[in-house]
Amino acid sequence: MTTVRRLGPSSQNTRSAVLDLVRSSGTVSRIELAEMSGLTPTSITRIVKSLIEDRLVVETGYGDATGGKRRSLLELNPDARYAVGVSLDDARLTYVVADLGGRVIGHHVSTGIGQTAPSAVVARIADELEALLAELAIPTADVVGVGVAGAGLDLGAGAERMSLTTDDWDSFAVQEALGSRMGLPVVRDNDAACAALGQFWAGRMSAGDDFATLYMSNGFGLGLVTGGAVARGASSNVGEIGHMVVEFEGRQCWCGSRGCLEMVAGPRAMVAEAMADPALRLELELSGDDGHLRHDFDAIARAAARGDERCAAVVTRSARYVAAAMLSVVNLLDLGRVYLAGPGFADAGDIYVREIEEQSSRLARTRSLHEVEVTLVDPGLDAAAVGAASLALQHVLTPHARAGRAEAVLPA
Ligand SMILES: [Zn+2]
Repeated sequence: MTTVRRLGPSSQNTRSAVLDLVRSSGTVSRIELAEMSGLTPTSITRIVKSLIEDRLVVETGYGDATGGKRRSLLELNPDARYAVGVSLDDARLTYVVADLGGRVIGHHVSTGIGQTAPSAVVARIADELEALLAELAIPTADVVGVGVAGAGLDLGAGAERMSLTTDDWDSFAVQEALGSRMGLPVVRDNDAACAALGQFWAGRMSAGDDFATLYMSNGFGLGLVTGGAVARGASSNVGEIGHMVVEFEGRQCWCGSRGCLEMVAGPRAMVAEAMADPALRLELELSGDDGHLRHDFDAIARAAARGDERCAAVVTRSARYVAAAMLSVVNLLDLGRVYLAGPGFADAGDIYVREIEEQSSRLARTRSLHEVEVTLVDPGLDAAAVGAASLALQHVLTPHARAGRAEAVLPA
């Protein structure tokens, strides 16, 4: 059973921890909340009263009688508040509107960042978001915030590398710009961390469930959830699995190392491998340009999913390296659960699931103790945006669980 640790009975954190217990339980009674949290029934009654007054929690009926008195049951009130998630990607922008339970109730996709100046992209995001909220008839007052997911390292305040093909975003303060346009708090994190958090929130997991989400777009990222929070590290850059060395004397990587997973098994490497076959290159109309990386990669992944043997061989080779990297992660962290998310897994994700399952069931150090369950997140394309919405929900509603860089920037 989950318990609330490290919290005093009178803090705001306690209220947020109780709300989180209601979320992860689905349906729960006050007595169960007291048992799970270690708080007194009086404290629970007081906290639940304030959550009901704020419409965050509703009473939904009665459970089994104990000692002649039936227990009233509590649930999260999903329609009380909403959050917006935006995933910034070279190839496309994805928007989702999620309710309090993390359920997606609105969705929109538009053109990606490309080479457009960040200020113009942010202005477009604000317009598209306002249109989406209007379409759903959701007043801005019911929106708790906006979560933004982007690729890459956090290189300092306002200097997140959102795009692999342009560095304009390195010096652009996306949170401040979007926050002042929308008049809402804006939180941000990398796409892998967002995808992991989304899984945690919408999957109703409790703080005791540890897992990793491998996110694949143009490169790889790993979001790691332990104890109900996304792991952060010394500079909020946990999860650079793309630069795990899988070939000790392999090809030089742009990061300075050699034989990194991204160089050996990432979309660029797969496109290069397919391009080396002139017939395949013509057939799939591969360009090999960085600007068309997603297009080229998608063509290969779709052909592999259709059963084209040449493309299946390219993807399987990548999947074996990815599985070897994930085996190390599973061994290091004793994980029983792994999720795969992101556009890179949209078409041929099954091949990666198969290879990771195969290697971990055969080679994981703890294989005699537990399985490693590998799940493809559906729809993987939206996972970062759904997670970004969860980030905004978590930030506002359960601040006890957040840590590190996902600090909200409030509108000026
Ligand atoms: Zn590298």
